Amino acid sequence: MANKMPRFWTICALVTCAVWSTARAEVRIVHEGKNAAVVVTADNPAMVATYAAEELVRHIEKATGQQLEIVAEKNIPASYRSRIFVGMTETARQRGFIREQMKPDEFVLRTTEHDLYVLGIEDPARDVVLGEPTDSDWTHKVLHDGVWGYRGPSSISPNGTLFGIYEILERYLGVRWLWPGELGTYVPRTSDLRIGAALDEYHIPKIAWRRFAWFHLVDALRRPEAYDPRTERLAFSRQGLRNFWKATGTYLGRHRMGHSSHPPTFREEFARPPWKGAGTTLAEERPDFYAMDSAGRRWGQAGYAYNFPDMCVSNPELHRFILEKVWDGSNTLRLGQVNSIQYCHCTQCMSWDGPQPQPDEIPQFERGAYGPRAISYRYARFWKTVYEQAAKRNPNTRATVLMYQTTLPAPGAIQLNDKIYGEYCPWTGPATTFPMRKAVDQWSRQQWLGWKKTGMSMIWRPNHLHMGYTMPFLSTRQVGEFFKFTWQNGLKGYLFDSLRVSWATQGPMLYIHMALGWNPELDVEQLRRDFWSAFGPAARQVEQYFDYWESYSLTHPQAALYSPVKAHLAYPPAVFATQEAVLKKALATAASDPLPEFAERVKFLRAGLEHARLSARFIGTLDQGKVPAQRETFHKAQQALQELVAFRRAKEHLFIADYLDAAATRERNNVKGIDRLFEEFEAKVPAQ
Ligand SMILES: [Zn+2]
Repeated sequence: MANKMPRFWTICALVTCAVWSTARAEVRIVHEGKNAAVVVTADNPAMVATYAAEELVRHIEKATGQQLEIVAEKNIPASYRSRIFVGMTETARQRGFIREQMKPDEFVLRTTEHDLYVLGIEDPARDVVLGEPTDSDWTHKVLHDGVWGYRGPSSISPNGTLFGIYEILERYLGVRWLWPGELGTYVPRTSDLRIGAALDEYHIPKIAWRRFAWFHLVDALRRPEAYDPRTERLAFSRQGLRNFWKATGTYLGRHRMGHSSHPPTFREEFARPPWKGAGTTLAEERPDFYAMDSAGRRWGQAGYAYNFPDMCVSNPELHRFILEKVWDGSNTLRLGQVNSIQYCHCTQCMSWDGPQPQPDEIPQFERGAYGPRAISYRYARFWKTVYEQAAKRNPNTRATVLMYQTTLPAPGAIQLNDKIYGEYCPWTGPATTFPMRKAVDQWSRQQWLGWKKTGMSMIWRPNHLHMGYTMPFLSTRQVGEFFKFTWQNGLKGYLFDSLRVSWATQGPMLYIHMALGWNPELDVEQLRRDFWSAFGPAARQVEQYFDYWESYSLTHPQAALYSPVKAHLAYPPAVFATQEAVLKKALATAASDPLPEFAERVKFLRAGLEHARLSARFIGTLDQGKVPAQRETFHKAQQALQELVAFRRAKEHLFIADYLDAAATRERNNVKGIDRLFEEFEAKVPAQ
């Protein structure tokens, strides 16, 4: 009995203690509509901490109408019940909340009694070293230096403090960043904001390399000459582009894009013919490095069947060349493959191939890509061979390779290792674009698993966000589940080689990508609901609207547009009319709510649909993708384009689409003679 007493008391004490500390750890931020907290930064805060504090205050004001005060640590007023310490403050240091081994983008969330601490490591040097600032705020840093992945490895800067604030905003305010800009930022209203239970959390990014390529926007603003006036008149005004770029950068930051450590970089640098040597191309000097065609010819021989050959990857001379002449011995060894399906037919390369599939085992949708021959095993052996030799010289080197087209199908059994980084790049046209048939989705998953089984490190580098032009073309569930699948099966990073999208017609798909990009364990159905909830009472109608388009995208494979010139066939006028009616009803429902933002968001969707309709209508006035030669049809095309462009400019503040690359660049690249539509008819028809 006696020796049981202390145990009893210990348990009691612990329970009491836990209850007591929970009760004590209430951080009141806004209470009964009044400020209850002050935001505190270091006396000399890093830029990231200043920006994080501002982001916190901005969103809380949107939620509660209350603007929190931001003060330096030496000036904390005594009048507030709670204090929110943002970044590396002296107080946090004294309390021992700063961990020694913190890495970039990791962060601490901690409460003590009534106070909250949000912090990650900071690197003040980074605040000034990056770029050539013309203004000193964080926005500059984000946008000019492309912290969110524009510059790649050089742009790592610790953003943990900011990411911690976003975690707080999502969790306690229910903030959802649906698309770039104010309207796309959904902040539920409340008069009471508090953190009711004690927090002692340490967060590490699940995925180290998170990147959506958006360099086309950055480039156009960095180098004014990169924004061709002929493109500009089809796209944003310069100020409009700047606004869109800023909103997009801010949005990507809120979704916590960036590199938390140095990512491997990918390219087939040794391969591209002509590879300029001293006056000659590598192909001229060493035709034996390049693929032999099926008739046994090499580069330079009469009748050579290839214009863009892949390499003769079994050739030990090529391996030596790569290791001695191309690779600099650094931590990166780029091994391709070459962006070509013209593979080598020499006896040795052919002997390196694994067992060949029977013709009926090659899925129809893959026949164009790897045709009669599966050559993945040959490449895996090439990568392994070169990597192993490189590793003797530099054991830290990372080999980077690309699984693309001919190398997409997983090889048979071969043991690679995790120092070989493979970018899985499914891209064989509309059939392998989300949404895809179930069989294709299954096939793609099998290839991912097959490559994963080799032991290599897996990166996802899909191209599906290139598709759709300005149309309502999207996938939510299938692509979301595939994203989660990659995470559950070894995903180390992703690079979406395209953020050339239409936010108002593809919004739910893009939001799901962004949210899973930070936390791939989130539930796809919940993310869908998050999106619909931003439409208030019209949530259900908006869900049905997008489900219609998602199903349309699957049942109309021709809707997977890269070039716009068939948009009018994939999206005929009638299909816009029915869905416009759906949105009209949704608008009436949303307008019943006293908060105007729900109706505004439906109007945003309507603008996106109207933009798609006008785009398709313009394409429909063309003569099979060409500007018509007859006066009457020319004027019709001109009229349609004028209306489209006028609409774009009138709505450019809404950010309904990336006018630059989803629209204008594609139109100029694919519509023959489009620039002539800005001139008088007489000037463009050759004299009879
Ligand atoms: Zn060969």
